[in-house]
Amino acid sequence: MKKIIIIGAGISGLSAGCYGQMKGYETEIFELQGTVGGLCTTWNRKGYLIDGCIDWLIGINPDNYLYDSWKELGVFEGDGFIQHDYSMQVEDGLGKKLILYSDINKLEEHLLQLSPIDEPLIKELSEAIRISAFSSKTVKPVFNKKFATMSLYDFLQQFKDRFLREALGVTLIPLQPKEYPVGTFIFRHSFYNRKDASWSIGGSLAFAQRIENKYKALGGKINYRVEVQEVIVKDNKAVGVRLADGSEHYADYVISTIDGYKTVFDLLKGKYLNDEIKQLFNEEKDLPSSMQISLGIHCDLSEEPHNIVLKLKEPFVVGDKINSYLYLKQFSFDKLMCKPGKSVITSIIETDYEYWDDLHKDIYKYNLEKERLCEIFIKIIEERFPQVKGKIEVTDVATPVTYNRYTGVWKGSYLGWWNMSATTLPAVLPGLENFYIAGQWAEALGGLPISMMTGKGVITKISEI
Ligand SMILES: Cc1cc2nc3c(=O)[nH]c(=O)nc-3n(C[C@H](O)[C@H](O)[C@H](O)COP(=O)(O)OP(=O)(O)OC[C@H]3O[C@@H](n4cnc5c(N)ncnc54)[C@H](O)[C@@H]3O)c2cc1C
Repeated sequence: MKKIIIIGAGISGLSAGCYGQMKGYETEIFELQGTVGGLCTTWNRKGYLIDGCIDWLIGINPDNYLYDSWKELGVFEGDGFIQHDYSMQVEDGLGKKLILYSDINKLEEHLLQLSPIDEPLIKELSEAIRISAFSSKTVKPVFNKKFATMSLYDFLQQFKDRFLREALGVTLIPLQPKEYPVGTFIFRHSFYNRKDASWSIGGSLAFAQRIENKYKALGGKINYRVEVQEVIVKDNKAVGVRLADGSEHYADYVISTIDGYKTVFDLLKGKYLNDEIKQLFNEEKDLPSSMQISLGIHCDLSEEPHNIVLKLKEPFVVGDKINSYLYLKQFSFDKLMCKPGKSVITSIIETDYEYWDDLHKDIYKYNLEKERLCEIFIKIIEERFPQVKGKIEVTDVATPVTYNRYTGVWKGSYLGWWNMSATTLPAVLPGLENFYIAGQWAEALGGLPISMMTGKGVITKISEI
């Protein structure tokens, strides 16, 4: 039986492991942390579960072509999924609310109520969402040239209602910049409309652990808390890995699912590059980078919306980034995440990696900035949710440096590359045999489905040899 070594037990590593086992290979995963999941994780702070990943997971509708793969990976063998009636509520801080209903008919009706004068634009947008069915097995994708090229910002400028113009424009934060085409908005909402954008009950780590269980049931082996430091190469063929403890492990194939930069420049010492790959890791590269502030609160917030985009009276400034809105999530709807009478509020805030990396050179300054931002955050939360005053028991701040420290991701990038049209790291490096790359760096716009599919994809490549 041929053997495959897989570096990393994030979603891509677990996917590669499961598909490797299913195809009859002996596989072994080496993972740096004590748990699986990588960026798809949840952590415990004094009994409060803080989730660090899933906002929307796609492929849960049986009509989505991703569904069968998720099923093979065992993600339905757990506590299930929730499809929310609305994806978020945008609040202007003065009483106006835009509720982004998942059902497009309901959303259209709501938008028309908010601004009857914008009926032609609302109808055009709603229709585009209604007929869109990205990654559907049964419905042919509709390509709308106008929406594929026009930026959401430019489209919204045509709205006469000021609140709607602004509120619809912030619904893509913190995930996408406003230069993104209208198509991105349509893409996102078509998944909600088709009941395909889900929350995984129990949170992100529990989701990853469902795949871990599947992998083990298939006979796979995981080594935890081990760092792969080098890929052993003989005659330009990958033959194994060397760990930080000096031990060597051999296999017929090696798959790296860890950070792209580390794979190419550390594990392979920069020996298998071309100009395109060198250019990819240009220091100037703008990558998706965020921080997360979370509060554990001894208070029941189950009557509050699960996702709020809140307009601030004063911007929340982190380094050079000025945030006029905060994107808040709270998890009381999931009884596995929050104990009765307790809640967690989390916010993902756009920020520069370099800002935190510089601060981190002086740990005192770094911690001070975390504390300062946390204090401002608490004031905002207490104003929006007066019921939580005096009941905040836990504060937690993760920065891009935290992401980097935890999973080694370059510049703390939580999705790999930003741009949909970006060149990405190839699955096979020039001049190196028996070595493959999967994960969020191997395709643009990362995310769980991409990681899962690239893990599956490299196994297909290996089995076709
Ligand atoms: C705040 C946030 C929100 C997100 N929201 C969503 C969302 O709503 N929907 C969605 O689809 N995606 C979302 N994502 C993105 C998604 O989590 C990632 O794209 C995906 O989990 C990446 O998986 P991966 O397997 O490619 O890489 P990783 O998760 O980075 O896994 C790599 C693994 O390799 C391990 N490792 C690193 N170095 C070594 C080494 N030297 N030796 C051994 N092991 C090593 C790491 O510990 C890690 O476990 C979000 C991410 C974040 C951080």
